[in-house]
Amino acid sequence: MRFENKVAIITGAASGIGRATALRLAQEGACVALVDRNEDGLTELAAQIPDASKIWLRAVDIACEEEVERCVNDVFVRFGRIDAMCNNAGISGGDYSAITDTDTGVWHQILAVNLMGAVHFSKYASRIMCEQRSGAIVNTASVAGVRSGAGGNAYSASKAAVINLTMTSACDLGQWNVRVNAVCPGLIETGMTAPVFERARAAQKEDKLGSRCELRRYGRPEEVAAVIAFLASDDASYVTGQALPVDGGNTASLNLPG
Ligand code: NAD
Repeated sequence: MRFENKVAIITGAASGIGRATALRLAQEGACVALVDRNEDGLTELAAQIPDASKIWLRAVDIACEEEVERCVNDVFVRFGRIDAMCNNAGISGGDYSAITDTDTGVWHQILAVNLMGAVHFSKYASRIMCEQRSGAIVNTASVAGVRSGAGGNAYSASKAAVINLTMTSACDLGQWNVRVNAVCPGLIETGMTAPVFERARAAQKEDKLGSRCELRRYGRPEEVAAVIAFLASDDASYVTGQALPVDGGNTASLNLPG
């Protein structure tokens, strides 16, 4: 029960890693503010959490600063504090074209959600955390932000930016006892990667998924949620500014073909 009497905001809570994180933090006693643009998904998730008094939910487009500011203020009014800010919502854009061909609109769309969504929530949640002199922000980046080849170019650049945002905001906020870390998931089965899994299963090549990482398998959302919970908890009280791969060893290896 590491989050008893604590309040956590989780973005992208309607699906995948965010959903697993919300369930994990709720299981560990947190009051959870569930945020996503998919309101039906949030309502369905809320039904899985036994104590309704510890749930708050809101449909928010994280790319919209005004919506985010209102959301953070309303969470503070509802629960009186913010201990953990999990910036997890993201989009892949599904565009794997080369830099020569990628539509500029795709770049703007992906950066607006993946980078600016985390910027917006970090900005408003950190103001409250600095006043409290405590708090933890955990950003969901990606192995795509560390190495090329795991996503399209705009997606990868957005995740590299999230890793740097993690380091720079850790430096800004450390003096106020606010920690900022990131997880860098490898291939995880979620809504985002569903098309990849569908294609592989249709071709009876599911065993190939994750086969290039050292643990020889893809990951589950709960395995990332456990690391987000660790970084958000006091167990990580002396950890800040770090981007931790949760990738079955993928980034540990050069993984040369053959
Ligand atoms: P997912 O699609 O299952 O969940 C993402 C959630 O974010 C969805 O519920 C979606 O509605 C929400 N969302 C998207 N744009 C939003 C917006 N503008 N405003 C509010 N909510 C929005 O995907 P997931 O895999 O669970 O993704 C979670 C995070 O993990 C993302 O940041 C993603 O980039 C990252 N990630 C995923 C993988 C993977 O293999 N699945 C790997 C590395 C990183």
